[in-house]
Amino acid sequence: MRIRLPKHYTVLITRTGQTPLSITFQPLPVIIVGLVCLGTPLAWMSALLHQNMRLNERNESLTQTASEVMSDLESLGAEIEDLRQRAGMETGEESSSLPAASPQSSQGGVAGSVPPEQLFEIAKAKVPQLTARLERQVRPALEETLAAEAAREAAFPDGKPLYGELDVSSEFGLRRNPFGGRGYEMHNGIDFRGPIGLAVYATAEGVVVRAEHSGGFGKHVVIDHGYGYETLYAHLFEMDVEVGDRIQRGQRLGALGNTGRSSGPHLHYTIYRDGQAVNPRYYIRYLRENLAS
Ligand SMILES: [Zn+2]
Repeated sequence: MRIRLPKHYTVLITRTGQTPLSITFQPLPVIIVGLVCLGTPLAWMSALLHQNMRLNERNESLTQTASEVMSDLESLGAEIEDLRQRAGMETGEESSSLPAASPQSSQGGVAGSVPPEQLFEIAKAKVPQLTARLERQVRPALEETLAAEAAREAAFPDGKPLYGELDVSSEFGLRRNPFGGRGYEMHNGIDFRGPIGLAVYATAEGVVVRAEHSGGFGKHVVIDHGYGYETLYAHLFEMDVEVGDRIQRGQRLGALGNTGRSSGPHLHYTIYRDGQAVNPRYYIRYLRENLAS
């Protein structure tokens, strides 16, 4: 059903003692003007509301990000503290510098939410603190530990005393007398067969504590590696080192020979741990991996 608007409206205003005032108008322009007058502020309010909603959304997203950053910083702070404690350092006053904001912890009282800008400011201030603690305290302690581990590793005799394939001619332990005599003897090392003159290398870092030609070992070198370890290289043809020399793993000590009580050219190699000879097979990585039987 269509609504037909009259073409003209007339408003009569009666006035006491005077002729009534009549205003005649067309309805359409009045309606248009009315709509424009009402519509403009409505559109403006709607735009304002929309903008406000977007600002709120942005604010919520910022708050969320700020909370995540704070949470990450807290975890980082806790990890640094854990490292400090494991490095044997006492808990510093700085460790409590991050405000506790764990949502799990029971907290009471009346508290307003901290605006994201303030959280970001706090986070910004915490980053240099955490970095400084890492650099000043954790890193030196860690480097000290790593250096100690590296030194221990370098002193552990698991290198090879000869290059190439190791040709074991006599194992560690009880063996028949190699010189044809009666009975058994305790062999306190491993013998590696090889040609006279083959280079003999230190199996770990250490200091030469013996380099002499004497007794059953003939020309022989003993290295003290620290941590209770010593190694012996015997029956050498020649020796390249002297007592007191600082030796690196893989450094040449001399040449394979047949000096001393030896039934043929070979290297006799012993590892001592706390003064006791131990089976080198369990120490030399190469023997463990390639010759284990
Ligand atoms: Zn031997």
